[in-house]
Amino acid sequence: MIKSILLLFLLGLTSPLCCFGADTGDLSIPVLCYHQFDAASRAPYAISPATLRAQLNTLKRKGYTPIPLSRLVDLLYGRPVNLPKRPVVITVDDGYRSLYTLGYPIIFKEYGFPFTAFIYTDIVGRTKEAVTWEEMEEMAAAGVDVQGHTKSHHPLTRRNLGEVEESYRARIRQELGESKQILEAHLKRPVTCLAYPYGIFDEAVEAMVKETGYLAALTCNSGNNDRATGPYHIDRRIVGRRLSLARFEINLEILPLDVTDLTPAEGEVVYATPEVVSARILNLDRVVATSVRFHIAAQGGIVPAIDPATGDAFCRVPKPLSKRVHEVAITARDRLTGEPRQASWIFIIRPPKDTERRPRTEGAIEGE
Ligand SMILES: [Zn+2]
Repeated sequence: MIKSILLLFLLGLTSPLCCFGADTGDLSIPVLCYHQFDAASRAPYAISPATLRAQLNTLKRKGYTPIPLSRLVDLLYGRPVNLPKRPVVITVDDGYRSLYTLGYPIIFKEYGFPFTAFIYTDIVGRTKEAVTWEEMEEMAAAGVDVQGHTKSHHPLTRRNLGEVEESYRARIRQELGESKQILEAHLKRPVTCLAYPYGIFDEAVEAMVKETGYLAALTCNSGNNDRATGPYHIDRRIVGRRLSLARFEINLEILPLDVTDLTPAEGEVVYATPEVVSARILNLDRVVATSVRFHIAAQGGIVPAIDPATGDAFCRVPKPLSKRVHEVAITARDRLTGEPRQASWIFIIRPPKDTERRPRTEGAIEGE
C-alpha cells in the first residue's frame, strides 16, 4: 500500500509528459451511441429493445449513472461539475422513428436516464421510419436533449465533384448553421452540440463547427473521455447488433489514452495505404510501454517503435488496406492497475481515380 502510494507520488512528480491533474488519473466517461431499436432489423446499428434493456441493466448493476451531455461539456471546459462515481452519457443518432417509439419510452421514461438525440433535420417527417416534428417537440418538452447532426447527413469532409474550396466551405457552413436554426426554431431551445455524420471530421471542419456556434462535437472514434478530451473530439462507443453484452461491459471501463500529432491526421484523405502510422502518446508514463499496440483495420496487435522521451510511437503498415474508412486504435495496459487504455482515430483512403461521390442514403451506417 505504502509502496503504491509512493509510486503514485513519484510518477506524479517526475513525469514530464503527465497531462492529468492530481485527481484525474482514472476518470473515464464513456459516451454510448445508439441509432435504431428494432428486434426484426438486420441493420448493423439496430438493436432489439431486449438488448437495450440488458445494456441499461448492466449500467445500473455496474454502478454507472447516466449524466446529461451538457455536464460532460462543462467538465471539458474546466467548469466545476458534480460527477457521480461512474458517469456515462447516452446518445441516439439520426432520427429514426424508433427513437420515439422505443428509445424515449425505455431509456427516458422506464429507466429515468437522460439522453441526447442527435437529429439531422432532413430526416424529420420524411418517411414512416422517421420521427416527426410533433414527436421531437414532445420529447424535447419532456426533457430529452436534442442536438445537431447537420441537415443532410453528408460527410462533412467530402467535396462534391468539381466543387471549389469556397463553395465547399459555404455548403458546410450551411449544413451546420441551417440545421441548428431549424432545430432551435422547432424546439425553442439552443443547440450547442454536434455529432459529426459518420464521425468524420478534420481540422477545417472542426474550425467551421466552432465558428457556427457549437460548443462541442462528438466523434464515433472508439474510446472513453476524461478531462484531457478536447470539446470537439468527444469519443463515443457505437452500440451495434454484433456487440456482445460482455464486450459492452468491458468497453465501459477502458481508460483513455491521450494522443496527439496523428499521422495520417484525424479525418485525413490519403490516396494509398500509408507506409507509416504514428501518434504521440501524451500519457505514456501511465502505461506499460512494452504493452502498446497499434490496430489498423484487421491488422491487429502491431508493436510500435516508441521514443520514451517524447512519447512518439510509430509502426509500418504491414499489408495494403482495401477499405475506404479506417480506424486506427492504440491500446496499452495501465502501469499501475494493468487495466486497458485506448485511443483511436480515423483516416480515409481514396483511390486516385475515384471522384467524389455522394453518400449512399441518409442515415446510412456510420463509418461506411
Ligand atoms: Zn448519423
